[in-house]
Amino acid sequence: MYESASFRNNAAELAGRVVGLLRGGRAGLVTDVDGTISPIVERPEQAIVLPGAREALARLANRLALVAVVSGRTVADAHKLVGVDGLTYVGNHGLEILSERGPELVPEARPWVPRIAAVLDDVARMHAIPGVLIENKGATASLHYRMTPDPDQARRELLAILARRAITSGLRIEEGRMVINLLPPLTVTKGSAVSWLVREHRLERLVYLGDDITDAHAFRALAVLRQSGVRTLGIGVVAPETPPSVRQLADACVASVREVAELLCRTADGLESSGTMESREALAAGEIDG
Ligand SMILES: [Mg+2]
Repeated sequence: MYESASFRNNAAELAGRVVGLLRGGRAGLVTDVDGTISPIVERPEQAIVLPGAREALARLANRLALVAVVSGRTVADAHKLVGVDGLTYVGNHGLEILSERGPELVPEARPWVPRIAAVLDDVARMHAIPGVLIENKGATASLHYRMTPDPDQARRELLAILARRAITSGLRIEEGRMVINLLPPLTVTKGSAVSWLVREHRLERLVYLGDDITDAHAFRALAVLRQSGVRTLGIGVVAPETPPSVRQLADACVASVREVAELLCRTADGLESSGTMESREALAAGEIDG
């Protein structure tokens, strides 16, 4: 199936669209990590970025005005996992960036760090569901139930506890692929992070890749950016457990993390063989201004 002729045609066609979009003007590519360039695994610490995706991102960073990673992980964790120099790293669903000084939380998220910790303490005390993994990421938290004996039951129990505790604390709940995320009630999302990156880097063109509900915020942001003249393409990674919003909001879909790696590789090939060759150095020096 993966090697089928129709997939080859689709992959080539999509890569052609991506290269065509990224080739002109100031262009950027932003990608999610887990489920997009890194296969979904049982425990977050087991994740690895596919080597093909990593190499392609490094090559793209030499060709584009921006290559960024936007993840629900802490920004330090996302940086460690992806491990490519020259990329921009945004973590904690947009609440944290990696600056030259290290990880930096947006100021409005800081008061929520102790509140998240307090809710997690309560969840751990009120219920011990075997296999639930509680991940405290500072400004956000993730409750993973992929490894529980009955994930549907675990999800219901966790949501019931959170309905009593997290909502009274003011936190926002957002579900993902076998995970419940606790977030501060702020307007910062992967979508606002994408809009910020476009402004900061004066991008005229943008490709975004993602697989989950939190990426739907980014796909919605692309639609708004498009209205302001930015050319965008949102690509969803569609697996059996993909939330409907990803399918609905993405402009194009690929079927797996492997296909993302291949798309990124084809894109790097296409940009390297194209005539324009807009290197990051030339852009930074102002020699090329889209
Ligand atoms: Mg993801």
